[in-house]
Amino acid sequence: MTVTMTAPLGVFGGTFDPIHYGHLRTAFELLQELRLGEMRFVPAGDPPHRAPPRATARLRLALVRAATADQPGFVVDDREVLREGPSYTVLTLRELRAEHPLRPLCLAIGMDAFAGLTEWHRWQELVELAHLVVAHRPGWQAPRDGPLGELLAARRTDRIADLHEAQAGRILVHAVTQLEISSTGLRDILAAGRDPRYLVPDTVCAQIRATGCYYSEPSTR
Ligand code: ATP
Repeated sequence: MTVTMTAPLGVFGGTFDPIHYGHLRTAFELLQELRLGEMRFVPAGDPPHRAPPRATARLRLALVRAATADQPGFVVDDREVLREGPSYTVLTLRELRAEHPLRPLCLAIGMDAFAGLTEWHRWQELVELAHLVVAHRPGWQAPRDGPLGELLAARRTDRIADLHEAQAGRILVHAVTQLEISSTGLRDILAAGRDPRYLVPDTVCAQIRATGCYYSEPSTR
């Protein structure tokens, strides 16, 4: 077992179209409770396997910056917005691994995202590059069967210390406060002209209002 001196680097990817308190509270609880050194928000520029985002990558990135600005330990990483081509998480983790050869990496994902992991580009490599930290999400159960059930059986741990003592390879399912907020729901609220207050930070509300993006026709990247 390798004992490292640097606290794990959390990686929180997503489309963030737009970012909301479900993302922020989850990231905050994981940062604190798993004793991560930082939580990096990595907005996808061109997210694969889903419909194109409603907002431009630049605006989604700006909203993530606005939402996270006042929280120590929250860091915004714009590499997927700047990179050409589909925003494959495996590419980001390879880069982070090269930049931080010894540091534990923890890829944070919701249970809904974990349930679809086998659709991700080179998904088996993800757990070689990083630990997976899976946050409970309302309405989702941990897979019991199939490749993900097998992966969980082989890699699962309940020991937070395991995330600190190796660079990658373990899966920790962690209970977080359940907030039934989704970007899809927010886009519906905004499209209906309703106020998103208390679902997203006020700074995000202000920027959404200023750009008018989610109230108007879909934007192009
Ligand atoms: P959409 O509704 O557009 O699919 P979303 O709200 O699921 O978006 P994403 O940006 O796709 O947001 O999610 C990024 C990550 O955050 C994913 O790993 C997802 O599981 C997680 N996540 C999103 N909303 C929540 C929530 N309310 N609680 C916990 N995790 C969440």
